[in-house]
Parts: sequence; C-alpha cells; structure tokens
Amino acid sequence: MKRSFIREILEAIDEETISFAGGLPSEKLFPRDDLKVATLTALDNPKIYQYGISNGINELREQIASRYTKEGFPTTKDNILITTGSQQAMYILAKFFENKDITIEEPSYLGAMNIFRLNHLNMFGVKLEDDGINVEEFEKSFKETKLAYLIPDFQNPSATTYCDEKREEIAKIVKKYDGILIEDSPYSELFFDKKNIAISSKLPKNSFHLGSFSKTLVPSLRIGWIRADEELLKSLMIIKESIDLHSCGISQYILAEYLKDEEKYERHLQEIRDDYAKKANYFSEQLNKIMPEFKHQKPKGGMFLYGSFEEGIDTFALVQECLKKKVVFVPGNQFYIDKVPNPEIRFNYTHSNFEQIEKGIKLIKSCL
Ligand code: PMP
Repeated sequence: MKRSFIREILEAIDEETISFAGGLPSEKLFPRDDLKVATLTALDNPKIYQYGISNGINELREQIASRYTKEGFPTTKDNILITTGSQQAMYILAKFFENKDITIEEPSYLGAMNIFRLNHLNMFGVKLEDDGINVEEFEKSFKETKLAYLIPDFQNPSATTYCDEKREEIAKIVKKYDGILIEDSPYSELFFDKKNIAISSKLPKNSFHLGSFSKTLVPSLRIGWIRADEELLKSLMIIKESIDLHSCGISQYILAEYLKDEEKYERHLQEIRDDYAKKANYFSEQLNKIMPEFKHQKPKGGMFLYGSFEEGIDTFALVQECLKKKVVFVPGNQFYIDKVPNPEIRFNYTHSNFEQIEKGIKLIKSCL
C-alpha cells in the first residue's frame, strides 16, 4: 500500500499554493451561525455526553430515513447505520467483503481503492463513459464478482453522472446475478439541474447506499451513513462495534438538532448548489480560454472537473513542475488500479476563488 497522493500533497503545500487538489468544500458556505446555535442547544441534552448505541442515535437515523422516503425510497431508521464519515462505511463494507472480488469504475475514488487494497479485495476496473459505466463490460465483470462499488452521482474524480437508462440496466444486472451493489453517493445533493434516482432504490435488498454530511454541511463532524436492508445491516454491526463502539455522539446530536429545521437545510443546500454551479462554469470557461488543449465536460454537479490532454502528456510529471510554481491538482493516474502515467487531471473547483482559478490555470499552462 501507498499513502494517498492527495493527503500527501495537502501536507506538502503552503498557504500561498493554489490547490485544486483536495476535495475541500468551500469554507464560506459552512453554516457556522446555525451550527453554533444547534451545538449550544445540543450541549444542554445530558444524553450527548453518554455512550450511545452502535447504529447511531434514533433522531438522526429517523431524519435521514425520512429524506429517503420523501424521495420515493421507503426507509425507516432501522435501515440506517451511522458511520464515522462515509469513509468508515466503506471500511466496514470492505472488511465484510474481505478477500472478495469487486467490480469498480475506472477511474474511481482513490480513498475507496486504498481501503479495498487494505482489506485484500481484488479489484476489476470497468471503463467509465460520459453517461456512466460501460454496461456490457460491467455485466461481464459483475457476472464473476457479484459485487460492485459505483459512484453514480457526480463521481469523484470524473464528475460523471449515470443517465437513467444505465441506472436501470445496472439494477437489472445486479438482480439477474443476485449480487450486491455498494452505491457511494456523497455528492448526490450537489446537483445543478436535477437530483438523480439512486440505483439502490430499485434494489432495496441487494444494495448498500452510502451517504455523508461532509459535502453538504461540514466534513469535520465526520458523520456518514449506510442505508441497507435491515438484515444486511445487522451483519455489519459486529464490524462497526469492533471498530469504535459508535460514531461521535456529540456530532450526531448537533446534526440532529440542526436538521430539525428542514427548510433551513434545504435553503443551505440550494446556496451551495448555486455557488458551485457558478464556480464550475467559471473554471470551465477559463480552461477553454487559457488551456484549450485540455478537453473536458462542464460538470453538472459535485465538486470536480475532470478532463484530459492528448496522449503523451504525463500529468504526474506536470504536477511536480506545478508544485514548484505553487499550484497543484491530482494527476489522473492516481485514480486507476494500475497507476501508469496518463494525460488526465482532476480539478477541485469548489475551494478556490475566481482570482485563484484564473491564476492557477495560467500557472499550469506555463508549466505545460
Ligand atoms: N466517497 C467519495 C466518493 C468521496 O469523494 C469521499 C470524500 N472525498 C468519501 C466517500 C468520504 O467522505 P466522508 O468520509 O467525509 O464522508
């Protein structure tokens, strides 16, 4: 195993460096005042200080369940397991499926691939196309692995979102082979036009749907969850209990307090979507103007813009040069099982301001 390139680069850079590398939400959009009020109220509750149950506090599980149900995916609190970020959700699942074969998208989320390696899962990559995974290749692989890890909404790193047809087809294939889908969806609320239907909603007995408050509220609370069939969830409890007994109670009660006002949360989500949509547009425009040789699709949501130069440009070498000029991004090879250098780049556009975006792209161009 190797450390995550992204975490290493975040440690290496200084204040002056323009970073398009980490998947950091915009700090300006953290609802600090509302969270402060929620925290003070939550701290008055004596239960906040005590050990809690392993699957998470009832209030929060009910709130999460009710959001699923409203979206047409019937869910109760018994379908929800609170985890320490969705990163832990993945760890629990990887432990549960230790040593198994798994179908993943290529490119895929670096943090998941590292967890799979750590738990000796054998990864089989299937090419991601502009409207989702290549379905034929997916079926060929899934037939063998019977387990898949997909990020169908504004994927990290590629920003790809599956079209409705591919969502249907994937669900059919998972059912046909009676396999399991792990659907990781921390970006689903960050849509610029419309919210997509979770593939898991068509597969309630054959899926684990992962969510998180890291991208919609604040990542430091470290609260995520797994939505699954009650029986399936029970089998994960032993792993969750062994890891940390339960996720931080203080974070959970603060969140439950904050989420009591649903309209306020909705307004907050809309504010993020509007801000990120503007930044995604600006980033894309500046790329087209300053570095047109970098081909990309304008994101429809999420936090990333992904694209590629022509074959022959090694973006892993490029980022080493850019680091000297104080601008960084993540080279595409990091998102592949076999990290052979390639011409792709993932840019995070949510954390920088307009001035930094323009300056950063100009600096990259000068290193090219
Ligand atoms: N899944 C994906 C696809 C992600 O991009 C991330 C964060 N980078 C996570 C899971 C983990 O998020 P968290 O643990 O903060 O919920």
